[in-house]
Amino acid sequence: MRQRAARDQKRLDSGAVTSPKDLENLQHEIASLAKRQSDLEDVVLEVMERREAAQERVTELTGRVQSLQDRIGDTTARRDAAAGEIDAEVATVTKERGVIAGTIPADLLKLYDKLREQQGGVGAARLYQRRCDGCRQELAITELNEVRAAAPDAVVRCENCRRILVRMPESGL
Ligand SMILES: [Zn+2]
Repeated sequence: MRQRAARDQKRLDSGAVTSPKDLENLQHEIASLAKRQSDLEDVVLEVMERREAAQERVTELTGRVQSLQDRIGDTTARRDAAAGEIDAEVATVTKERGVIAGTIPADLLKLYDKLREQQGGVGAARLYQRRCDGCRQELAITELNEVRAAAPDAVVRCENCRRILVRMPESGL
């Protein structure tokens, strides 16, 4: 377009075009080419501005992605560390349980394991202040008397939830 405008201008300046009608057409074309060039320059400017804004947004979003990835990395590392600690604790507790289970009579251990399975993981409960810590029910007075009368090594169970009751010395039972 610039070339065409320059060529038109050259023809105009050369004096080769003499007819007033042709001269007028040529001048008109030069003016319209200048107008289009100016319009296109405006478009180019606007496109460049939008491109710059888009690049700023890309930079900002890239930064946010990076910061989220950092946080994911930190959190994953913390989760893995916690899982490692939990695994180690499970191993220790399992080992301890094995040692204790070895000292309990087989039939009592069998009963305990059965109750534990039936009662959501808790097979034995403390009897504390007349209350079964397993089901939170207070024992009836007759039941309490039976527990009191039972031999120290007898297995007593909660009337309500059937769990093995562990008598605590401080509760006088
Ligand atoms: Zn109970």
